[in-house]
Amino acid sequence: MTSLVNPDNPVIERDVVVIGAGPAGLMAAHTLKKKGLSVAVLEARERVGGRTWNGKVKDAKGVEHFVELGGQWISPDQTRLIELVDELGLEAFSRYREGKSIYVSPDGTRHEYEGTVFPADEKTIAEMDRLIKIMDELAAEMDPANPWSHPRAKELDSISFRSWLEELSDDTEAIDNVSIYVASGMLTKPSYTFSTLQAVLMACSAGSFSNLVDEDFILDKRVVGGMQSVSLTLAKGLGDDVHLGTPVRELHWAEPDASTADELNNIKADVRNGVAGNGEAGNVTAISEKVTVKARFAVLAVPPNLYNRISFVPPMPRDQQIAHQHISMGLVIKVHAIYDTPFWREEGLSGTGFGGGRLVQEVYDNTNYGKNFAESTADKEDTYGTLVGFVSDVYAEEMWHLPAEERKERILDAMADYLGPKTKEPIAFYLSDMAAEEWTRGAYATSYDLGGLSRWGHLQNQPTGPIYYACSDIAAEGYQHVDGAVRQGEIAALAIAEQAAKA
Ligand SMILES: Cc1cc2nc3c(=O)[nH]c(=O)nc-3n(C[C@H](O)[C@H](O)[C@H](O)COP(=O)(O)OP(=O)(O)OC[C@H]3O[C@@H](n4cnc5c(N)ncnc54)[C@H](O)[C@@H]3O)c2cc1C
Repeated sequence: MTSLVNPDNPVIERDVVVIGAGPAGLMAAHTLKKKGLSVAVLEARERVGGRTWNGKVKDAKGVEHFVELGGQWISPDQTRLIELVDELGLEAFSRYREGKSIYVSPDGTRHEYEGTVFPADEKTIAEMDRLIKIMDELAAEMDPANPWSHPRAKELDSISFRSWLEELSDDTEAIDNVSIYVASGMLTKPSYTFSTLQAVLMACSAGSFSNLVDEDFILDKRVVGGMQSVSLTLAKGLGDDVHLGTPVRELHWAEPDASTADELNNIKADVRNGVAGNGEAGNVTAISEKVTVKARFAVLAVPPNLYNRISFVPPMPRDQQIAHQHISMGLVIKVHAIYDTPFWREEGLSGTGFGGGRLVQEVYDNTNYGKNFAESTADKEDTYGTLVGFVSDVYAEEMWHLPAEERKERILDAMADYLGPKTKEPIAFYLSDMAAEEWTRGAYATSYDLGGLSRWGHLQNQPTGPIYYACSDIAAEGYQHVDGAVRQGEIAALAIAEQAAKA
């Protein structure tokens, strides 16, 4: 069998090697360069942007339509991303939201409504308000950078969000509608698989639980030309320092501690208890498929579920080896359906639809605006209408196991529950499949298993020797979002610049 790594790799020397050219890695490299440090960014894919990805889908007439296959929306609290979009000379536009929204209740009844309060019965609305208030209070008590320090961290981390809501309420409709905002809507895992502490972190990171509930806040703006333009523009500024199509396979990062060798059991020296001076400069060698980089620091800017795709030499300390096993990707299908016109607008509808616990639990008007790389015009909205829908966790699993035609029919039928029979006749249809992408393996992001956040979370942002971690999955503000990714990239870069100045 041939090795994945070329033994004749060119070797380059830099201050910092950045692994991963998603928004976090590129922001780290951009910041490091501004601080006068040399960088090399090694990216597994043949493109930059990671979970942000400008794509296309063709209709039967051969017209190409622009679709954002990954992250796209920005909310007003995501201030670092908003500033960056501006710094890079990019523009943002607002999601279409005029007209009535649709709520489909558990019995399948369709309700049109305006504002953010569901047209559920009074008792359910009061119950939802009560649960949201409790979540808001817990989120207000939390520091998103230290959720494990919350006074009730252990208690809230040892109960699933679903069980906790069921302890608080016996109104299933209220529970379904409240849990959707964190479970299928954000972590894209069933609400019985993650803890209440993890749910509170999601809310706290977005400013409050009430913010999560408000789609006009959370899904406020998009970048003209697509969110991947942020990464494409950062990468352009980095030029030849970005190396594509070159997964990092090995990262040499420390000298084993001779005293740990156990000759009796034939165990070699290692760094099981960690190394002295975490965060300080060291000797790092990153071996990727096409290039080897020797550096003083590394930024690991990949989601934590992919850390173990790299062979660390020596193997990571015991704590990290364990901690990294408690964090996993969610699963969601982003559905793109294109129509000759945004027909729902003619019917006085915004295109927004919700239904907790349904196959497609959310739909929105996702009509494109401005110049992108499919058919489009600068400063104008597309004449074609686009709907985006989401099929989360257990439903996503079910859908991927169906034949393609049946899957499409089931999904469009479910979207038609909100916006009527015309929904079933898109001129183009596409499903984002990040779970099948080797260098992502799920969507939108990673989260801890039950109890994992309070036990292991404190390690996630601590450097290991000269290795710094940066990605949206371990962010405080902007957790799981592009904003969190760019914040993390910048934080890691500034910390490295400070250390580099000492060395
Ligand atoms: C379908 C979908 C919808 C989303 N919607 C939104 C949204 O509306 N708004 C929002 O803010 N966020 C959204 N997100 C989340 C957002 O896209 C991510 O939080 C963000 O992209 C994370 O950036 P990152 O740089 O931390 O990681 P990534 O974007 O995952 O980048 C990591 C990079 O590392 C590379 N890599 C991995 N392993 C290696 C290796 N061994 N060697 C070299 N390179 C490697 C990967 O190829 C990738 O390019 C969405 C995500 C998905 C999937």
